[in-house]
Amino acid sequence: MAALPLTDHHCHGVVRRDLDAAGFAGLLTEGARGSWESRLGFAVRDHCAPLLDLPAHAPPADYLDRRASLGHAEVTARLLAAAGLGALCVDTGYLPEPLLTPQELGAAAGAAAHEVVRLEQLAEQLLTSGVDAMGFASGVRENLADRAEAAVAAKSVAAYRVGLGLNPRRPTDSEVTAAAGLTLATIGRGGPARIADETLHRFLVWTAVDLGLPVQFHTGFGDPDLNLHQANPTLLTPLLRAIEPTGVPVLLLHTYPYHREAGYLTQVFDNVYFDIGLAVHNVGSRATAVLAEALELAPFPKLLYASDAFGLPEHYYLAATLFREALSAFLDEFTESDATRIAHLIGVDNATRVYRL
Ligand SMILES: [Zn+2]
Repeated sequence: MAALPLTDHHCHGVVRRDLDAAGFAGLLTEGARGSWESRLGFAVRDHCAPLLDLPAHAPPADYLDRRASLGHAEVTARLLAAAGLGALCVDTGYLPEPLLTPQELGAAAGAAAHEVVRLEQLAEQLLTSGVDAMGFASGVRENLADRAEAAVAAKSVAAYRVGLGLNPRRPTDSEVTAAAGLTLATIGRGGPARIADETLHRFLVWTAVDLGLPVQFHTGFGDPDLNLHQANPTLLTPLLRAIEPTGVPVLLLHTYPYHREAGYLTQVFDNVYFDIGLAVHNVGSRATAVLAEALELAPFPKLLYASDAFGLPEHYYLAATLFREALSAFLDEFTESDATRIAHLIGVDNATRVYRL
């Protein structure tokens, strides 16, 4: 298991600066509250401290001191290299500040790095570039086709904006023009350049499908601005049914606490895949149970590994380490040759096949 070069099919950049105590805590958990007094905080002290030449269970203050004296670049290099990754698919769409690029992450990890294009970000950039409503649909098609030359997938955050109960029908260009006009009018009145329109999210998804680009959907838990019940992946059922004949892969990200529902969808639809993302390092000793629940119905060729790492290289290392532990425990009941084959499917081969890496 330690030698398995995991493909991390959903992750983000890490910060390119040294962090003070508050900065580190804020990136360790959602919101800075009690971050060291959490499973994740203890996991950093247990698993990451030795990589920074400290004893396991080192106190937080010692950890932060050592981190500062090594500097962010060295810490990132050590933790990413130790994660044992073979390939990364990096979501470049969320940039609250400059983060390491896919190429820089790949170099630090000693892994191949690929980009995933955030659909809404591409559309929002177009909306602020002077495009008019009539030019929006063709502009999105052209820009996404350009980005698709280098990217391995597209990602939708419709779950955050309008929920996953999307109409399955491909919208017409006149419907897209009308919807883009409403959003442009909002921007014209000083509103944010933010896609939050069911027709536009659906249009973006279909544009990616028409290009043959695998589509990732945020599903399940996430940041505090998410209405969790609208992120249940079963809400996508009509759209999944409409996309299935195209054969374009659909990837349900995170999925927890709907990992059983997601597993069901991957059994029903040939082209649907999923991960349990950062649930593994958030649920601590329950990780093996969550993994087992995800795989109650899902065929083994349908689950992928994802860290959902963001901001800190610690997330990359912990996610990989804890996933290996959980998968290893799950595979205990199988023969050695079956366990080896399943570990390779979930850790490497499924992602390689789906994204044609
Ligand atoms: Zn993510």
